[in-house]
Amino acid sequence: MKVIIVGAGLGGLACAISCRREGLDVLLLERAPKILPIGAGIQVSANASRIAHRLGVLPVLLERAIQPEKLEIRRYDNGSVLYIRPGRENMVQKYGSPWFVIHRADYHEIMMQEAIRLGVDIRLGCTVEGLDFDKSQVLVQDGETLSADVIIGADGLWSTTREILLGHQSPPVETGDLAYRATLSREEIEALDDPEVKAIYDRQVVTVWLGPDKHCVFYPISQGNTYNLVLLRPDNMPAGARTVQGTVDEMRLSFEGWDNVLTKILSQINSVLKWKLCHHEELATWTKGCITLLGDACHPTLPYQGQGAAMAVEDGAVLGRLLGLLDSEPLFKGTSAKFIPEILNLYEGIRKSRTTINVQGATANRFWYHLADGPMQEKRDVALRGGPDSTGWCFLRPDYWNDLVGFDAVADAECAFEEWLSQKGESIQ
Ligand SMILES: Cc1cc2nc3c(=O)[nH]c(=O)nc-3n(C[C@H](O)[C@H](O)[C@H](O)COP(=O)(O)OP(=O)(O)OC[C@H]3O[C@@H](n4cnc5c(N)ncnc54)[C@H](O)[C@@H]3O)c2cc1C
Repeated sequence: MKVIIVGAGLGGLACAISCRREGLDVLLLERAPKILPIGAGIQVSANASRIAHRLGVLPVLLERAIQPEKLEIRRYDNGSVLYIRPGRENMVQKYGSPWFVIHRADYHEIMMQEAIRLGVDIRLGCTVEGLDFDKSQVLVQDGETLSADVIIGADGLWSTTREILLGHQSPPVETGDLAYRATLSREEIEALDDPEVKAIYDRQVVTVWLGPDKHCVFYPISQGNTYNLVLLRPDNMPAGARTVQGTVDEMRLSFEGWDNVLTKILSQINSVLKWKLCHHEELATWTKGCITLLGDACHPTLPYQGQGAAMAVEDGAVLGRLLGLLDSEPLFKGTSAKFIPEILNLYEGIRKSRTTINVQGATANRFWYHLADGPMQEKRDVALRGGPDSTGWCFLRPDYWNDLVGFDAVADAECAFEEWLSQKGESIQ
């Protein structure tokens, strides 16, 4: 079975590795002529590290990662601690796999190297412009057509394959928020020579400040030599804009009056990128014939649950496993290709509900994170501090976290395949 994957982001790479591990032929087409590190830090929750384990890359990732001691949520103005969620062994005990933070460039490079090692054919500088559903082909920029049994659009937020598959324009929906992303070096932060700031940066913790309409996330990456900052606020970018260079003055002004420690950290930042945040709550369909989508191409989300890439790698691993199970099923020897559309529909069926819950959860987090001071915020803070919870906020429900990060996406797909197969087997007999 031959698979073409469009896009070598984390989702496309996870799919490529997963397909190769199943013995499928993989051609990975990536528009960028060179792989450059975009963004800075990324949180990898237990559901995503479980996928990394399945793909054989977890030990290498952990060598370059930091497993935070805890997640700590603070109030925006005085920095008082509202909530603590312990990390490390606690996460492993609860959800069966570690939670870590890592530089995106490291994560991407490790996945890329593994794909190359397994024999994935990777073509950089190759932009896909068209799809032929009848012939199961992609059309690339220079006019060449490439055929495969399965084609997977993993081309991200501004996906071309999504629009071709749907047959109409389908830009992601602007959420009304934007993100400033920045990094600073340990030397830059140390230069402040401030014990209050040191108490925040000299530890392995993901720190979040919550305030009206905004929040900030801060954590160390690259063995603590670099710090990652993401600052979220209402969008003031023109409609349709994507990523632009921001100004540090505007960024600092946006967080004026916030916790002293944060203000001092922001004073050391020299450059920021500004990202418009978009999502799709639920796309009508991901699949047509032998072509399907994964990751941000079909379920982009606000990054307020740290799950966008996690869901993309789950999709990729699940697709590879399902196609591998189909390809190796003795019942379909020589005829498996004809069942590909059914398998892609099975994939869409099991992945859509889960990813929609994630997109909705991130939107719910925006509501609760960004509350203005007042009765609702007080109710939230009582619950965050461990008092009675009258919010109904998913973030505070252990069962919600268990379903979100305790989930084994590949095991779920294997069960779904078994069920499909038993129905198929009955109808064939
Ligand atoms: C501020 C912020 C913080 C985030 N933090 C986290 C986090 O902590 N944890 C987490 O799990 N997620 C996080 N995310 C989400 C995460 O970054 C994305 O969900 C994830 O990277 C999506 O991966 P993907 O492979 O689907 O798409 P992408 O990474 O966008 O990859 C798509 C690839 O396709 C290529 N491509 C595009 N068009 C074409 C074409 N026509 N032909 C060929 N190639 C093409 C692109 O060049 C790109 O390489 C965050 C997002 C933001 C904005």
